[in-house]
Amino acid sequence: MEIFVRAIPTATVKKHGSTYLFMKPALKTVLVTGGAGFLGSHFCEFLLAKGYRVICMDNLITGSTTNIQHLTSHKQFRFVKHDVTQHISVAEEIHYILHFASPASPIDYLKLPIQTLKVGALGTHNALGLAKAKKAVFMLSSTSEVYGDPLVSPQKESYWGNVNPIGPRGVYDEAKRFAEALTMAYHRVHKIPVRIARIFNTYGPRMRKDDGRAIPNFITQALANKAVTVYGDGSQTRSFSYVADEIDGLYRLMLSDVNEPVNIGNPQELTLLEIAQQIVALTKSKSKITFAPLPVDDPKVRKPDITLAQQKLGWKPTTTLEEGLQKTIAFFQQQHAKNPLH
Ligand code: NAD
Ligand code: UDP
Repeated sequence: MEIFVRAIPTATVKKHGSTYLFMKPALKTVLVTGGAGFLGSHFCEFLLAKGYRVICMDNLITGSTTNIQHLTSHKQFRFVKHDVTQHISVAEEIHYILHFASPASPIDYLKLPIQTLKVGALGTHNALGLAKAKKAVFMLSSTSEVYGDPLVSPQKESYWGNVNPIGPRGVYDEAKRFAEALTMAYHRVHKIPVRIARIFNTYGPRMRKDDGRAIPNFITQALANKAVTVYGDGSQTRSFSYVADEIDGLYRLMLSDVNEPVNIGNPQELTLLEIAQQIVALTKSKSKITFAPLPVDDPKVRKPDITLAQQKLGWKPTTTLEEGLQKTIAFFQQQHAKNPLH
């Protein structure tokens, strides 16, 4: 007798005597901490589309369920409200842990200095402990901020950085440096497979218009025809990566076997004044550019060397700044149309 249990395209076939069973391969489960934030929510969406089961864990301190609302009806998606600085308990099998939880914009971490240090330290410790218990691959969302105000440019992964530990930005930079150190310690001592992504400034839809970062500020101001506030004289540089490129790079890193840090960012470097001017032009705004004091310890340059990502992951960004900005501007316009009073 032959029994055919549902024909599934990617099915494996097992033979039991004369019985053939088409069995769906087990889904891989990914825990995304900080999954209700900007990058985390894009990663959750991307992973569901790739056929993973996703557990999104977030305490919503800077993120929002609005970012994941469209995912909640997906059968393979689960949201858990939890502060990862507290013990993390998940009953089911987990194959990957993507640790994205952390305030990330300067105004957020300046407002939340202790929470930022705690999530980088205690949160990373808990997430690594869970990875060890579950034999999961652990990926840390680290940052170009580990290079601080760099004395070399572009920044290679081998550069140790120039960070002021006690300045206002130190709470974020040092939390991430500690998180990298702890991740490597777990790798060396407990043999956990780890990935460390040094993420450079990323932008795109779902950024909060009030998160204080340059691109949301400039777009919001330009769309309202209000003064566009460039800090300092605008000669400091950043290299902005569009979110879809960034997630592609992060996913390749997740699947790779590279345990050391890898820069994931766009090497196209511009001054902040150039970015402000481009946004004013793209939005056809009447805004004037004004100058305001430069925040303490604001890095003067930032540009990733992505040779390692190119060699090991076959990755480089493909979205032009203009394309990425157009998509981001369209997002902020839609938000404004939905809620014109805010
Ligand atoms: P975000 O603020 O939008 O997302 C962070 C998420 O973490 C939020 O949803 C927040 O509620 C959650 N969170 C914070 N503390 C938590 C805790 N204790 N427990 C559970 N959840 C907690 O920021 P983002 O831009 O999406 O950044 C995500 C990650 O990427 C961060 O780790 C950040 O350091 C890193 N990163 C981002 C950028 C960037 O340009 N966006 C650059 C470098 C690194
Ligand atoms: N910046 C600015 N005007 C703003 C917001 C930010 O000129 O309204 C500058 C900020 O001083 C920094 C750069 O833009 O030099 C990037 O700032 P952001 O907060 O986006 O990220 P950072 O790279 O500092 O973490």
